[in-house]
Amino acid sequence: MPKKIIEIQSEVPYHTYTVAETEAELKTSSLEGLTSEEADDRLRRYGTNELKGSGGIKWYVVLWRQIANPLVVVLLVANILAFATKQFPEGGVILFIIIMNATIGFYQDFSAEQTMEALRNMSSPTAQVIRDETRIVIPNNQVVPGDVMIFEDGDVIGADCRLFEVFNLETDEALLTGESLPVQKNLDRIKTAEEALGDRLNMVFASTTVVKGRAKGIVTGTAMATQIGQIATTLMNVDTNELTPLQKRLNKMAYCIMVAAVALVIVVFGVHKFRYSDEIAIYAISVAISMIPQGLVAIVTLTMAFGVSRMAKAKAIVRRLSSLESLGAVTNICSDKTGTLTQSKMVAVRMWFPGDGYYRISGTGFIPEGEIFRQGEVSNDDEVPTHDGQAITLDSGSDQLLRVVQASALCNMAELRRNNHPETHGEWTAIGDPTEIALQVLAYKAGMPKPELVDNGFQLIAEFPFDSSVKRMSVLYETPSSEHLIFTKGATERILGCCSHYRDGDAEIPLRNEKGGDDSIQVDFESVIMNRVDALAEQGLRVLSLSYRKFQPIKGVDLVHGLDRDEVESNLVFLGLVGIYDPPRAESLPAVMKCYEAGIRVHMLTGDHPSTAAAIAKEVAIIPADTDVKNSSMVMSADMFDAMTEEQIDALDELPRVVARCSPNTKVKMIAALHRRKLFCVMTGDGVNDSPSLKAANVGIAMGQSGSDVAKQAADIVLTDDNFATIVEAIAEGRRMFFNIQKFVQHLMSGNIATILVLVVALAVKDEQGDSVFPLSAAAILFMNLCYSSPPAIGLGLEPASATNMKEPPRTSKQGLFSFEVVMDMFVYGFVMAILSFVPFILVLFVFGDGELGYKCNAGYYSSVCDGVFRARATCYSTLTFLILSHAINCRDIRQSGWAWNRLKTAHHNKTLWLSIIIGAMVLFPVIYVPGLNKNVFKHLGISYEWGLVFAALFIYTAFVETYKFVKRRTMA
Ligand code: ADP
Ligand code: MG
Repeated sequence: MPKKIIEIQSEVPYHTYTVAETEAELKTSSLEGLTSEEADDRLRRYGTNELKGSGGIKWYVVLWRQIANPLVVVLLVANILAFATKQFPEGGVILFIIIMNATIGFYQDFSAEQTMEALRNMSSPTAQVIRDETRIVIPNNQVVPGDVMIFEDGDVIGADCRLFEVFNLETDEALLTGESLPVQKNLDRIKTAEEALGDRLNMVFASTTVVKGRAKGIVTGTAMATQIGQIATTLMNVDTNELTPLQKRLNKMAYCIMVAAVALVIVVFGVHKFRYSDEIAIYAISVAISMIPQGLVAIVTLTMAFGVSRMAKAKAIVRRLSSLESLGAVTNICSDKTGTLTQSKMVAVRMWFPGDGYYRISGTGFIPEGEIFRQGEVSNDDEVPTHDGQAITLDSGSDQLLRVVQASALCNMAELRRNNHPETHGEWTAIGDPTEIALQVLAYKAGMPKPELVDNGFQLIAEFPFDSSVKRMSVLYETPSSEHLIFTKGATERILGCCSHYRDGDAEIPLRNEKGGDDSIQVDFESVIMNRVDALAEQGLRVLSLSYRKFQPIKGVDLVHGLDRDEVESNLVFLGLVGIYDPPRAESLPAVMKCYEAGIRVHMLTGDHPSTAAAIAKEVAIIPADTDVKNSSMVMSADMFDAMTEEQIDALDELPRVVARCSPNTKVKMIAALHRRKLFCVMTGDGVNDSPSLKAANVGIAMGQSGSDVAKQAADIVLTDDNFATIVEAIAEGRRMFFNIQKFVQHLMSGNIATILVLVVALAVKDEQGDSVFPLSAAAILFMNLCYSSPPAIGLGLEPASATNMKEPPRTSKQGLFSFEVVMDMFVYGFVMAILSFVPFILVLFVFGDGELGYKCNAGYYSSVCDGVFRARATCYSTLTFLILSHAINCRDIRQSGWAWNRLKTAHHNKTLWLSIIIGAMVLFPVIYVPGLNKNVFKHLGISYEWGLVFAALFIYTAFVETYKFVKRRTMA
């Protein structure tokens, strides 16, 4: 591979350039963008658009982490001590352990880091650019100088750009300039090159965010050549490496254990009346080391990293590790409707307007092929007609129809394109808000698409964008005949308030009774419209109202920036309704059912009309199909919910399952209400304004496809498929992971407790000299700690979910890792294992042996007087090893038998666990039987009949565990 030479991007004061000069300098075209070949070439020349120093794992950093930890320091001290006092076997083992520990730790840590790094990149923001004349979405790091970039509200800008087209663009540049208010951008050329950054209004800068509006710009600098790159390299990626609460708690526990270990050292010396001998010193240190669950934090991290990559395969990208722990404890899911529970493939299926009545539109998806059928009115107000009349076209239809279609086409930023690729020839693709796509498709079907209108001279002057708190959007157009028209569309309640008239045929009739109006002919037309909205919404349709008016520009007022939104959106003329269908995803209903089984409540929060929301909620079983929507507290509109005081909300039996006409603030209020009830919630979001609720939720989930960058950055998890079912899968994974961590913590700790108890109790066995006869040699203790705790723990971390994983209620958030039951089990198992391995030691010494404890048998094998002790040690060692290994199988389930056949037969799902047990059992033999190694290093002698004791202990232990679990199943809730 040729060496990568990255060209330095020249520093050019682009804010002093005109757009044409910028285009020329960067050899690009604002209309067509770069070609993909040129872009590839520039990517090679200038490198990827990433700040240096962010990301990239350094092997030496990971290695240093393995060495610079307290355990290794203790081991090193022990090692120096051993060599200094010429105890070479112990010294050798300790050295071996230090090296193994560092190697395994390094490997684990490095692969965990790599996984996380890969995932970090996956969740990094994307950019919209024009390449080969088409608008495409690419990862932000692929952006090159000269690219034409498109921004919308909520985007995090990926590179420095010179703007050439803006609509009400406001950006937040606090990160760069400290200016806390949004900055309004324009296209004016600036004369002085030294202009302060905050005043370069025709530029936007990397890492700042779009608060409002939309724009296009030419990329002038990427990576380190951006303003942000020049200031700092450390501003990004701050939150990915922090420890999770669980890791912190485990770290704390590790330190408590360290203290206890020091106490133990003192005990060991105390028993020997503080008489110093080299063996006692090494032994004391070994005892202390055996207490420390050194693998614990590393294995937790590794388990989480595996979990994160499994979740990524299931299409959930974890941005904050700590959310994994919370996921398992989730009791409530608050989900968006649009796009999450539904497919977001919106199709306009109905229209209604005064005078003409209903229309039905045929066709599927965003393929703009379908017909429009006139249906007319029905006698019953609450119903929608079912029979089609004749198909009509714009020419044969009414003037009213023409206006409605015109409004649909123009009050619309969505784009439809027909692909010219040879393979996917003729396939339609759409970019934009699904609601707007649906309306654009309608305009195509009617034969009046926006591009045609634009070609004929309709020109967009200003836009007042949609946002889910105002729930409407307006545009100002100049028509070919130089008239000015305003089109507004949105939720009916939000449109009618801005309307003074409605249009019926050619007439514009006042919407409300003016004082002194003729009451006899003027029914309250608002209620007529609302009836139709209800009728459509009850069918699960999202209903949008369209309106327009003529506009008289006032002299001297800047039409692009100078208009007041409230004034523009007033005195409008109501045109008609469009009903848009967004079918639920097929996976939603089963996923909701799964939540019920798992004791998780699902809430739907949507900006739609209550009837639309309720109809969809019924389809996915969030509320029962027979709910009387109007009189049920399960469905509430946000105005009702927002109007309630905290006390009133807390007095509700149950929080509403459906909140309609929701705004971002309603979501925050909902989370607060959930938290007051001590519930644990997931909240989804996609919009710019959703950040507060995403942050407030226990687990904030953003939508990867439809979500804004701002929402993604505020979220803990990003769904790449926007699918509700993925949330449920992520929760299942969170639960599995939590229980697995609990399982191996249980295993590690009970094993350690057993070892410590044996080592301490055995201090009472003293030879004639008053020296304790150690039941395990220092080398054996250290070796055991290395081989029999960490590998099975990694295996337990990989255990598949139990069958009841999603059939049990969530754990309460109070109940952390160390629930009462877990702690009790830890001590019970540790205690029993200790007894069962200490008893064989005593039996071999005193019952089957002659009770000869020999002389200095801790230090080495001098003569056959040590035979008894050496055999007893080997027995004790084998028993404890077998118990700890087999205990991993017990730990597979806290209540159920780990040996049950239906679980054993799926053993191949977790090869790691079984291999670690089998290999662990095999390495036992050399330690006992290899001549030299056994006597000199581990202070063992080969055993024979003693195996009977080992297996008896194993059998008794298994029987005990099964009985104990049986009793627990019977007696514990
Ligand atoms: P959701 O969270 O369900 O997507 P939104 O807040 O996006 O809800 O939308 C709420 C309401 O705003 C919709 O029911 C619709 O009436 C209106 N609306 C949605 N999208 C647009 C749009 N692009 N322009 C105008 N009005 C819209
Ligand atoms: Mg929406």
